[in-house]
Amino acid sequence: MSNEPKGKKRPFPFADKVRKFIADFEDLQYDGAKIVCTICDSDLMCWDKYDCIKHVNSQHHRDKKQGVPSKFQLMVDLLLMLVACNVPLSILDKQPFREFWKKYAPELHLPSTRSINTYLPEVRKDVIDKIKCGVKNKQLWLCVDETTDIKKISVVNIIIRILDSLHPASPLLLASRRLTKCTARTITRVVLDTLEQFEISASQVLLFVTDGAASMRLVGRSLQEHGCRFLHITCKIHALHLVAETVRNCFPGVDTLITSTNKVFLKSPKRLRAFHDKCPDIPEPPQSILTHWGTWLKAAFYYAVYFQQIKTVILQFKPDEAAAIKESQTQFQDISVENDLQTIHNNYKGLHDAIEKLQNSALSLAESLQIVDDIGSTLHAIKDVKNDCVVEKWESVLKKNSDFIKLREIWGGASTDTLSECREYFNYACVTSVDVEHSFSQYNHIFSSKRTCLLEETVETYLMLQNIRKWCPVSLGDNTDNTSDNNKATSSRTS
Ligand SMILES: [Zn+2]
Repeated sequence: MSNEPKGKKRPFPFADKVRKFIADFEDLQYDGAKIVCTICDSDLMCWDKYDCIKHVNSQHHRDKKQGVPSKFQLMVDLLLMLVACNVPLSILDKQPFREFWKKYAPELHLPSTRSINTYLPEVRKDVIDKIKCGVKNKQLWLCVDETTDIKKISVVNIIIRILDSLHPASPLLLASRRLTKCTARTITRVVLDTLEQFEISASQVLLFVTDGAASMRLVGRSLQEHGCRFLHITCKIHALHLVAETVRNCFPGVDTLITSTNKVFLKSPKRLRAFHDKCPDIPEPPQSILTHWGTWLKAAFYYAVYFQQIKTVILQFKPDEAAAIKESQTQFQDISVENDLQTIHNNYKGLHDAIEKLQNSALSLAESLQIVDDIGSTLHAIKDVKNDCVVEKWESVLKKNSDFIKLREIWGGASTDTLSECREYFNYACVTSVDVEHSFSQYNHIFSSKRTCLLEETVETYLMLQNIRKWCPVSLGDNTDNTSDNNKATSSRTS
């Protein structure tokens, strides 16, 4: 069946006719089933001498032979460049941009926004085909997470990596979907549909990484019911972040000091000036964004180091000027808060460093496990009453994730699990969901307040393009035959 030529069927005697004239074309080859252009690397889907002449005389073929990028290639590269730089395609309609282009690159036809948009569906198809081809029969790592976008809509992103035993592979975005109802059930549906769309079988996925949310545990379980045999790992940075949150809860005085001092300097250039006058050589107090991994700890370390200097600045402000000033002054004058800051600095530096190190999603599994082990030993070694609940938290997040223990056993060669035979595929298995978090920041950059009219499929395509560049940076649009230029009159579905 696979020997059947694609496209038009032809009567058998045609073969002899083709053999007679094909020798006249140095760029064309006939294998008894199809005529292939060796320059364009494409099946001509024709068996007629006239069609062959037409092809070798076409602009596309001649350009390709002379190494000149085709119009299609130019469009694809322009599209990729704009998307990668996150420049709205509408820039192509802006007069100053067109004038600059006309002055310095008059030989290159600059398309309009509308016309470049018509290339998007084809480029998208090209990306999807490339991913399909690249992941075929490969063992995979899968990561899924959910967030809320600027329009308060739930968005689910799905990322995969090929589990290569020799190198860390680049992450690939398969889907970014908006869900009107975001539940374990709807997320599972999106994952299953996506795997099907990319022709990935359930058995190819060896590792599934999510955050520790209850809904994601349900997703993992229902995917396993649908035939997935993967280990479900909860993100280890999320786990460490939960531990850092426990540290924060154990030291309420320090927490108040950080938040109130934050407010003292927030949007107050006058107070910031006073700060710089008094302490010209130290950095400004950090703005602790609690949702960011490890930022609270970093802020606490800052106040531990510069406690006396900041205290002098804070105490010179009038307490009745703002509630935050009064609050901050109270904390700075409390000796127990000062001691607590020292305790945090001495005990939890390792926790912060571990969070930082795990942000590197290209770590080997051996390195990641070492970081996790080290932080476990560090936490256990701390002699402080307040640390007991921190250790307890750490133990409980680890215990909840039984598949992580299993992964460790498989990796250590001490497991009889059916996945043990796949041990080498785990060499570069990432134990965090930083890839998907990164894709959410890319999403927010694209789907910003000025571009909220972008359709789901358009944003998804942009994200796919931004991610695939790291994977196969040069080959997009390369293999498309000359019919592509003519098919551009199709609708601009995605705009
Ligand atoms: Zn050709």
